[in-house]
Amino acid sequence: MPDGIPIQPKDSRGYFMLPQAPEDAGYYVYGTPLHGAGQYGHPALLSVLFWVEREWRAIDNRKFGVGNISQAGGPAYAKHHSHMNGLQVDIRALRFDGQQTRVSRFEPDQYDRTATAKLIAIFLSHPSVKQVLFNDPDIHGVRSWEGHDDHFHVDIRVAVKWNKKFYLPSRWFCLSAARRRKSLFTQRRRSRSKRNIRFTPVGWVTNRRRPRMSASSR
Ligand SMILES: [Zn+2]
Repeated sequence: MPDGIPIQPKDSRGYFMLPQAPEDAGYYVYGTPLHGAGQYGHPALLSVLFWVEREWRAIDNRKFGVGNISQAGGPAYAKHHSHMNGLQVDIRALRFDGQQTRVSRFEPDQYDRTATAKLIAIFLSHPSVKQVLFNDPDIHGVRSWEGHDDHFHVDIRVAVKWNKKFYLPSRWFCLSAARRRKSLFTQRRRSRSKRNIRFTPVGWVTNRRRPRMSASSR
């Protein structure tokens, strides 16, 4: 590493590590591997997190816990097969006491359903959020998924603009410009010759040149 100002770690995909909970952030970090090694996110995901964080800070003083996103370079986790493309993130359920530890939905003395529902609603209101997996049936908009009792899983989509013209290119578009010109020329020639040649009792003739009767055949 060259000397200088430390910059945010970046992986081979060009994904940055989630900033490890600056002092005034609305979130804290947890997850495996430690120290952000499992928190490399697609730029679209990071911007969702920053947006949700801002919305959340406006209504609540507690920090929410951000867990696994993806590992540097995107290898699979031992436990789950998602979390490889940087478009998923795990978020802890909220606690009444605001401590930065886990809480299960089966611990009614600490599990803050109302706050968790609000946080999930903020995520779901973002247009990039595809689905939220969480097992509390009293929270609106979530899908239940095995193992999601103390954290919810957020999937986001990335908007991709397709140019329809190049989505399924015709063979003509695949050719180089020179070959395109040539193929147009040969097509024109072929079609003209098809139109003009016909078979007559005299033989193959074109429309332009009428068969000339020779003097001897008269
Ligand atoms: Zn997950």
